[in-house]
Amino acid sequence: MANTPTLTLNDGNSIPQLGYGVFKVPPADTERAVSEALEVGYRHIDTAAIYGNEEGVGAAIAASGIARDDLFITTKLWNDRHHDEEPHAAVRESLEKLGLEKVDLYLVHWPTPAKDDYVHAWEKMVELRAAGLTRSIGVSNHLVPHLERIVAATGVVPAVNQIELHPAYQQREITDWAAANDVKIESWGPLGQGKYDLFEAAPVAEAAAAHGKTPAQAVLRWHLQKGFIVFPKSVRRERLVENLDVFDFELTADEIAAIDAMDPGDGSGRVSAHPDEVN
Ligand code: NAD
Repeated sequence: MANTPTLTLNDGNSIPQLGYGVFKVPPADTERAVSEALEVGYRHIDTAAIYGNEEGVGAAIAASGIARDDLFITTKLWNDRHHDEEPHAAVRESLEKLGLEKVDLYLVHWPTPAKDDYVHAWEKMVELRAAGLTRSIGVSNHLVPHLERIVAATGVVPAVNQIELHPAYQQREITDWAAANDVKIESWGPLGQGKYDLFEAAPVAEAAAAHGKTPAQAVLRWHLQKGFIVFPKSVRRERLVENLDVFDFELTADEIAAIDAMDPGDGSGRVSAHPDEVN
């Protein structure tokens, strides 16, 4: 991915700003889809234990012949494995499935606040990094109180927080906290998971038309220019190519501002689960 920019995380490691996410890619289809993604130039793959497709990701990596150092692989600790020494067992299982000695980024998938074990999970993540099982550690779906609590307990600031983020749901409280604390934001559902008329919205359609790009490309460009990391999902080769072809144009400040204004500001743009509801 020669022209994909990298960002530097707060631990000094670098991450390609655009990758390929494999949520809901069926296990039987994952090796093919990830192989195609690697063929067309992706070098950053975002999976999770709960997606059930780490073996397919691993098979594609093994078949690709791409040097390990040229790949950035993220996986995630599932919610039922925060307690005791379970995070150690879970990461080893993921590494086995992925065929890797270490991942580049390991995330606590959800804070599961009703169980109140996310501080323990974060303490274990710090151990996993020290043990060399992952190069960087971060969290996902953590709200500001969760972030403040894990940092207060450990003194370790996550490298990233991966959250639902797209034009109708921009989560400014979290992005402001992240900017102030040198935490990179990863936008999941960057295209709104196809659940609302994002591509027909005037700010998106007009920006796309002005640059001769598709609406999906305009939205991805908005994420990139906001400094967010993205990994849109598709199983169609032409869309994999399209989603990677976003480095030859730049949205203007006005175009960015118009997309910024798409969030109604009351949380109603959310398309998936709220972190307080996932336990
Ligand atoms: P997304 O916003 O990437 O939407 C994916 C859908 O958009 C696809 O199913 C496809 O129909 C459509 N699409 C993709 N490219 C397109 C294009 N060029 N033109 C038109 N339509 C296009 O949603 P997502 O898959 O949920 O999010 C991306 C990744 O984020 C996931 O694959 C996963 O890795 C991650 N994720 C993480 C969490 C979490 O809790 N941490 C939750 C959901 C997703």
